[in-house]
Amino acid sequence: MANVALRLKPGREKSLLRRHPWIFSGAIQHVDGEPASGETVDLLASDRQFLARAAYSPTSQIRARVWTFEDEPVDKEFFRQRIRSAIAARSPLLLGEGPGVRSNAYRLIYAESDGIPGLIVDRYDDILVLQSLTAGSEFWKETLADLLLEETGLATIYERSDADVRELEGLEPKVGNLRGNLSSFLFPITEHNLKFNVNLQSGHKTGFYLDQRLNRLRVRALAKDKDVLDGFCYTGGFTVNALAGGAKSVLSMDSSAEALELCKENIALNNLNLTRQTSFEGDVFQLLRRFRDEGRSFDLVILDPPKFAPTAAQAERAARGYKDINLLAFKLLRSHGTLVTFSCSGGIEAGLFQKIIAGAALDAGVEAQIVEHLSQGPDHPVALNFPEGAYLKGLVCIRK
Ligand code: SAH
Repeated sequence: MANVALRLKPGREKSLLRRHPWIFSGAIQHVDGEPASGETVDLLASDRQFLARAAYSPTSQIRARVWTFEDEPVDKEFFRQRIRSAIAARSPLLLGEGPGVRSNAYRLIYAESDGIPGLIVDRYDDILVLQSLTAGSEFWKETLADLLLEETGLATIYERSDADVRELEGLEPKVGNLRGNLSSFLFPITEHNLKFNVNLQSGHKTGFYLDQRLNRLRVRALAKDKDVLDGFCYTGGFTVNALAGGAKSVLSMDSSAEALELCKENIALNNLNLTRQTSFEGDVFQLLRRFRDEGRSFDLVILDPPKFAPTAAQAERAARGYKDINLLAFKLLRSHGTLVTFSCSGGIEAGLFQKIIAGAALDAGVEAQIVEHLSQGPDHPVALNFPEGAYLKGLVCIRK
């Protein structure tokens, strides 16, 4: 037993019995002892029965995140086993690599889904990029860093603990070398045999949207001889794949000039035809309207916007945003054209997203059908006891 514990209100142990790993502040009756931020505490039912061992987050609404539901020590060896099993789950087969196809960038550890709440580790070839998001992962960070090197045999960990959610945990942003030395912030990776330069210091998330890896390959297969529009292109993940797949033209839009510049560099890095690609810097909402007014049309439209609704509270406003861009996209699609549309908002469930897209088609006055459902890749698994881990939804729709 840990000597500090959180006693729950009667009946509030239910979610833990279903093995959901979060305890909210409102479920807690009493804090026994004075646990420090991130310290391991026992979660006890109102009758003091042991339920789980968890990390204490004194400032967050999510007051505790479970490490284990067993009465076992939470120590270096505990985390070693969790890290080992996460690594074992990333076999090339599971990662979706075909024969002769190579990627060297993928998510190695995905927080709650891998039984280590708060810890994200992405592997970029021989560099690990670590994000610590909670008090618990912060408490164990040095141990976790040592273990990561021991278990992977690598030497470099770069820290990108600059996500906004850290603030809820009372943690300052931290960016820099955690182990070893990064020789250059711009780091080349291979994804399904294409090369991308990734900015590990200032790129979004840990540098690249690794969750879209397999979907980018899908777009490559769909792009041959197509006029493609890539809305929210970032550093060109879909654009480069569309060109590699033989697209006739690709129009890439983003509000970030820096992202568009890296997109061009990534096209050149793969010796693809730059004359087939055009960049538009600006707001996708406005650019799509302008294109509609100009009567432009495309065979393949990709929409991969940022998170409009991080939580369910913003779902309604977000739904309007998704509907707006998808309605315009349907209008820009030629007959038999394809829309590949995504939402990475945790607050918008798959069923709701599909309804929003249906509403967009209806209001655009087009008939369309879904031919494929897409999601985050297998390196971003979803633990069955933690459905919140599923956040990326994609639909491939064909306009009649
Ligand atoms: N598809 C990309 C990831 C897209 S991330 C990939 O596979 O790598 C979302 C992008 O949308 C970011 O690059 C951000 O700069 C851009 N963005 C956010 N809001 C925007 C807006 N209103 N108009 C245009 N771009 C926007």
